[in-house]
Amino acid sequence: SLSDRLGGVFDRLRGRGALTEADVRAAMREVRVALLEADVALPVARQFVDEVTEKAVGQNVLRSITPGQQVVKIVNDALVAMLGSENAGLAIDVTPPAVVMLVGLQGSGKTTTTAKLAKLLSGRDRKKVLMASLDVNRPAAQEQLAVLGTQIEVATLPIVAGQQPVDIARRALSAAKLQGFDVLMLDTAGRLHVDQALMDEMRAVSDIASPAETLLVVDSLTGQDAVNVATNFSQQVPLTGVILTRMDGDARGGAALSMRAVTGKPIKFAGVGEKLDALEPFHPGRVAGRILGMGDVVSLVEKAAQSIETEDAERMAARLEKGKFDLNDLRAQLAQMRRMGGLGALAGMIPGMKKAQAAMAAGAVDEKILLRMDAMIGSMTVKERAKPELISAKRKIRVAKGSGTTVQDVNKLLKMHQEMATAMKRIKKMGGMKGMMSLLG
Ligand code: GDP
Ligand code: MG
Repeated sequence: SLSDRLGGVFDRLRGRGALTEADVRAAMREVRVALLEADVALPVARQFVDEVTEKAVGQNVLRSITPGQQVVKIVNDALVAMLGSENAGLAIDVTPPAVVMLVGLQGSGKTTTTAKLAKLLSGRDRKKVLMASLDVNRPAAQEQLAVLGTQIEVATLPIVAGQQPVDIARRALSAAKLQGFDVLMLDTAGRLHVDQALMDEMRAVSDIASPAETLLVVDSLTGQDAVNVATNFSQQVPLTGVILTRMDGDARGGAALSMRAVTGKPIKFAGVGEKLDALEPFHPGRVAGRILGMGDVVSLVEKAAQSIETEDAERMAARLEKGKFDLNDLRAQLAQMRRMGGLGALAGMIPGMKKAQAAMAAGAVDEKILLRMDAMIGSMTVKERAKPELISAKRKIRVAKGSGTTVQDVNKLLKMHQEMATAMKRIKKMGGMKGMMSLLG
């Protein structure tokens, strides 16, 4: 998997702090290969890699996962964000009939998907649906839709031999209006490749029907051609979404990323089989994992998020073991209290903090006070934070000014820190945190 491959790139990096630009670039070469193998179109892969490189450089490597896994997490998060939202349904809350038009290359799955959507809308949503095929190019295309309509018990527009697509669309629209249909599904003619005559026809139909939804149906196996397809169709008609078909096959799903990048429109559904109920909402997380070639991305991501907190707590515990507690430690504690709403487990074990916590719980210390304390420590120099005894009266004035507080506030903060540091030393005499925990039983 990608994670294994990145392991090689990062072998040298283990134990070091932040991801360097050189390491990230090396890793991103592997990511790019993975994207191309998953059928992401080249320009899209390039652009994506550039964006993610910027995000990744300088990020700290979490101790509980490897740098390679960390990059996978960053890439995965960016992929999910780019693939867009889950459950983007159809926007058909318009004055009926809401027209839903499906466009795409021949064989992409338009007719099948028309029937799948009609089944979903008529069943789950109890809509009254009419389907019409505008495909006069392929022999028996209109009959194909009629057969599917019978199977799912959805009405299809009666076939009139020799009629052109624009005329069929007009007839379908007036039939839908007259007979009180909620939704009119228009299944358009297939294109072998992008063909101007058919594009003109599609645009004419779009002008007449003004669809609420114009969905581009794309085979998920579409590779480098995806950019062309998406660009051409979106130049001709205002697309509102994409449906990826054949996600039940071997496709790694790279077409999803290409489609999102080029059209900017949500991927609304995924076709997962030939049967008429084989249509699912699009799951960005699942598809991201598939593109990266790893099923365990989700658990990795969860583990990484947990480890951020664990690492903070462990680092702190290690320092407390040594009886050390400077203003940096206090600052970390304050941050943890903010994160945990004042209920930091570790904080609760420190006598001085216990008081602060109790005050917080009682509502006496609120988020604003914690932020003010943080601002004060932020206005101190590195040396002052490590050695608070350096903070003279003159320096206190500077800190107060820098943080928008008063010298009195600074004194309070230093006193609180002093109490806590003394408590730390006592804890150490008692045998460190472990000894203290055993006392607490
Ligand atoms: P059209 O030319 O765009 O109208 O494509 P069709 O709807 O006629 O579909 C072409 C073929 O693809 C048919 O055999 C369908 O059964 C099949 N097909 C469509 N969607 C899917 C899908 O999601 N999964 C699988 N496995 N086959 C599909
Ligand atoms: Mg068709």
